[in-house]
Amino acid sequence: MTQFDLQLQADVLVIGGGPSGAWAAITAAKEGAKVILVDKGYCGTSGATAPSGTGLWYVNPNADEREEAMKSREALGGYLADRGWMKKVLDQTYTNTNQIAAWGYPFPLDETGTSHRKSLQGPEYMKLMRKQVQKAGVRILDHSPALELLADVHGVAGATGVNNQTKDTWRVDATSVVIATGGCAFLSKALGTNVLTGDGYLLAAEAGANLSGMEFSTAYSLAPAFSPVTKSAFYTWATFYYEDGSVIEGAGSQKGRSVIARTLLTQQVFARIDKADDIVKKAMRQAQPNFFLSFDRLGIDPFTQKFPVTLRFEGTVRGTGGIHIIDETCATEVPGLYAAGDAATRELICGGFTGGGSHNAAWAMSSGYFSGEASAKYALKLGAGSSNRKAKGLSEATGVPKQATTRSDAPDTQEIIKAVQAEVFPYDRNWFRTGEGLQNSLGRLNHLWDELKQGIQASDGNVVRVREAAAMTATARWMYTSGLERTETRGMHRREDFPRVDQDQQYRIISGGLDTTWAKPLIEPSFSSVKKEAVV
Ligand SMILES: Cc1cc2nc3c(=O)[nH]c(=O)nc-3n(C[C@H](O)[C@H](O)[C@H](O)COP(=O)(O)OP(=O)(O)OC[C@H]3O[C@@H](n4cnc5c(N)ncnc54)[C@H](O)[C@@H]3O)c2cc1C
Repeated sequence: MTQFDLQLQADVLVIGGGPSGAWAAITAAKEGAKVILVDKGYCGTSGATAPSGTGLWYVNPNADEREEAMKSREALGGYLADRGWMKKVLDQTYTNTNQIAAWGYPFPLDETGTSHRKSLQGPEYMKLMRKQVQKAGVRILDHSPALELLADVHGVAGATGVNNQTKDTWRVDATSVVIATGGCAFLSKALGTNVLTGDGYLLAAEAGANLSGMEFSTAYSLAPAFSPVTKSAFYTWATFYYEDGSVIEGAGSQKGRSVIARTLLTQQVFARIDKADDIVKKAMRQAQPNFFLSFDRLGIDPFTQKFPVTLRFEGTVRGTGGIHIIDETCATEVPGLYAAGDAATRELICGGFTGGGSHNAAWAMSSGYFSGEASAKYALKLGAGSSNRKAKGLSEATGVPKQATTRSDAPDTQEIIKAVQAEVFPYDRNWFRTGEGLQNSLGRLNHLWDELKQGIQASDGNVVRVREAAAMTATARWMYTSGLERTETRGMHRREDFPRVDQDQQYRIISGGLDTTWAKPLIEPSFSSVKKEAVV
């Protein structure tokens, strides 16, 4: 057996230390499990939430307010969400958010003394979560990306990885594993997404889990061309302009983003947030101070001056696709393997559309809680000793590289990443999808997959990029295989050749496969009761 620099045992291994992983770890530990959490970065500052301000789907337990909250999302998501899940997540988010307040998070108070709990400042939130993870007795391995899962005939049994600072290797044998590695933004430079390369999808798929909703991955957010901060909501108060200074009619943050994308294909688009009144301006500065940093540095006032904007790709981070969940414990098809947060599908509460917009944050804390509780129960039921199963790493069987090759004719990580980005970033391939375009891209991505299976070089010495390059290639293939399967326009999946909703495709699409990817409809009774006539 390979010797590792660090070898540990646990009941539950949580992979990923964003909000979903932190909630999973705390909850599993409270159930009495011995828990280890590994993070690619530093748990508390790594991932999409940590550097951002995040809206939260926090709704009072009042029947009318809850009904309105659920109803408002159904049409947007193409009627693929599930009311049972929405209720469950609304309940859990309410409880967890109040718990955050009890832990000391400084929610703002209004003049009547009412505490406002519909948003969280990422840095404070994640600092607090790290503290709670440690307080719960969880051992944290920072800077320690997981590179492959361990498994035996009974199911998953831990993971191995490397410390990306010391280069020491690690192995954690565990009875159950929660994948909380976030989504995949293909290294597009959107804030907080530098670590979000789809690793968890690949880990899960190697173990035999499926994915769901991967066609809902066309999330592009508005950002100043000179800044990584994506905050599309602020552009609700913006006017958009052509290069010649004239107004782009129909352009907007919510409904008019396609108009912006089309214009960006031929020229630079400018914005000015000129419809915000003083109250809104103040609220913006409070909600997301880092939005203004690059403006202040450049001496631009976004409320009175035009600035260049772009649509930055955020892939599945603000999409809704991810690892398929088979029951209300957030279990996958693989015994002992659970998924939470952006790594899991969010179709259950969002259907085919989310712009972040507070649902992902609610999902992260709720699914983290559910998976943490269930993974602990699973592990404790199997009992002591079950974590010492002499399990093997899965990448040997699948043949997906996890180490760099010395073969000089093999593609380099940077080459692979650039090739994948060339298929997923352009608006005319991914935003405005056609069957022919998707097929062509998929053909090239499949070829890339065959090539990288023979070995990947890491000339910059960053061996973690080897797995990241493979994970991004695999993710793009599941996205486009699913996109080809859905021959209609629904949620955030837009097909130029099928521009309308097809009422007969009101189902979710699951996908999977490594060397040969596949996608097929998943017909579930849970949401089939929603009236198809309502979909227009
Ligand atoms: C700029 C931005 C703003 C957003 N704002 C909102 C908002 O207002 N409301 C909302 O609902 N949602 C928002 N979102 C969505 C946001 O992604 C989720 O709400 C939330 O961060 C998901 O939490 P998570 O724990 O699943 O993933 P993340 O917070 O992304 O954390 C994933 C963690 O996994 C780790 N990791 C990745 N790969 C590995 C590996 N191989 N091994 C070990 N660790 C690994 C990463 O280092 C990271 O710490 C926003 C997203 C972005 C990008």
